[in-house]
Amino acid sequence: KDKGGDLGVSDSHKVLQEVFGYSSFREGQEEVIHAALKQQDVLGIMPTGAGKSLCYQIPALLFDGITVVVSPLISLMKDQVAALNQLGVHAAFINSSLSEGQYRKAMANACRGQYKIIYVAPERLMTESFLSFTSCVEISMLAVDEAHCISQWGQDFRPSYIKIVDFIQTLPKRPVVAAYTATATKAVKEDIICILGLKNPYVAVTGYDRENLFFAVKKPQNKQQELLFYLQKNKNSSGIIYCNTRKNVEEVYDSLIERGYPAARYHAGLCDSERKQSQDDFIYDIRPIMVATNAFGMGIDKSNVRFVIHYNMPKDIESYYQEAGRAGRDGEPAECILLYSGQDVRINEFLIEKQLENDELDFEERKLIRERDSERLQKMTFYCFTNECLRDYILRYFGEYGNTFCGNCENCLTEFDDIDVTQEVSTLIRMVHASGERYGINAIIEAVHGSKTAKVHKFHLEQSPGFGSLNQVTLVRIRQILNDMLLKGYLYLTPGDYPILKMTDKGHNLIFGESDEKIILKLPKEIEKAHTKQKQK
Ligand code: ADP
Ligand code: ZN
Repeated sequence: KDKGGDLGVSDSHKVLQEVFGYSSFREGQEEVIHAALKQQDVLGIMPTGAGKSLCYQIPALLFDGITVVVSPLISLMKDQVAALNQLGVHAAFINSSLSEGQYRKAMANACRGQYKIIYVAPERLMTESFLSFTSCVEISMLAVDEAHCISQWGQDFRPSYIKIVDFIQTLPKRPVVAAYTATATKAVKEDIICILGLKNPYVAVTGYDRENLFFAVKKPQNKQQELLFYLQKNKNSSGIIYCNTRKNVEEVYDSLIERGYPAARYHAGLCDSERKQSQDDFIYDIRPIMVATNAFGMGIDKSNVRFVIHYNMPKDIESYYQEAGRAGRDGEPAECILLYSGQDVRINEFLIEKQLENDELDFEERKLIRERDSERLQKMTFYCFTNECLRDYILRYFGEYGNTFCGNCENCLTEFDDIDVTQEVSTLIRMVHASGERYGINAIIEAVHGSKTAKVHKFHLEQSPGFGSLNQVTLVRIRQILNDMLLKGYLYLTPGDYPILKMTDKGHNLIFGESDEKIILKLPKEIEKAHTKQKQK
């Protein structure tokens, strides 16, 4: 009865054109759709905006039975169902936003076979009423949206996603299982396959590179000024400004409103109606500038976003790339700019701790998660300090190999001076070694610089050989060099509350091996000038 085996290329093209009104598939879509139609499990790893929904919606329309889509976000479900209904596709959602009456009606309709696609929140899967429905109809496919939520390594682990596994087991016939996510790290990918129990899945990873996006990191003295300056130069374009706290959203929002910018705001502290209003005003370009926390954006589809400015550094590259990736979905040039300050790092450390307190975890889990999160935060911080191609840095983080020169990021467009810092680097490593690899960044910097601070005194670092041997180099420069060393892997920081500097094998070899390696620090030409001027004064 199931015509699954015969479904193929021409059917899916027909649905693409006749139902969705698109002329051709985007990268990756066709392949995963055909795998699903041939009854093969699927794992689609595609960046935000790549068009994952279509990948399960098209097979859903072609299968005989019903497709169940597990999705974590109520607003996303609503939007998708509304969009499908508008295209004449019968779809519904089952989640906590339905009243008792609405819920009963939807389930009754579902049992009568009214819907081809049913979106459901993971918490609902194992309820009695949902199970009694799924036991008497044919479920052709189970699509798992935001599948990384099943992994503890993912950025937003949801315990309720584990219910999907139990749910599949209750079904009389195992459906095709198709998982989709934008998170591409190896650990997450393995978790999805393993925990969801995907059988010999067809795995599609489509390009993470978004060529039209320009990347830059700025470290302004005054972020607000920098932001206003940028907006002045980019009048009339639509953009998102992400802040790390509600308070920052309010401050930035107020300063924009004061100057007459058409800005909207969005964070979890606002009532539903204002959030809805803000979102609509933004999408329809009534207020084309959005100031928001990371609560904003999932499931938002606005193609003409010309810039995404991060007023604060996010907690990891996953979050950053996902949020920045909301710029330029139309393929036209767009800019992603991160405004860094040291305080962002500390606030993120605080947020990591707070999150750990909220989650109910045992000691071991807490330790593991803390380590993982601090490591990610470190890699995010390194992004702000690297002088190499920013795009390449991001792509390598996700395990893709880009060009070392993209020509469309700030670092690729900046001229650098090469400074030989071999001497300074070996002094720093020697200090770390001589003091027993027991101290953090500040203590080591102060010691080589010869600062007589309380910390240096307390740890008896004045007695270490090498104390003060970089007294001719400014503290700022020593810090730059040290950051670069962490980036290049001569030293590393232990994760946790009090990060300690330790030597890597590479660092060890540099001072004890027979290396005549020269270590070059790349610094932007302008900064270099300012720095030498300062020194001469
Ligand atoms: P994702 O879930 O991967 O972030 P969506 O499924 O929301 O992305 O798709 C993003 C946008 O791209 C939507 O507006 C969708 O209609 C559009 N889209 C998807 N596939 C195609 C296609 N083949 N041709 C044109 N537009 C498409
Ligand atoms: Zn580049």
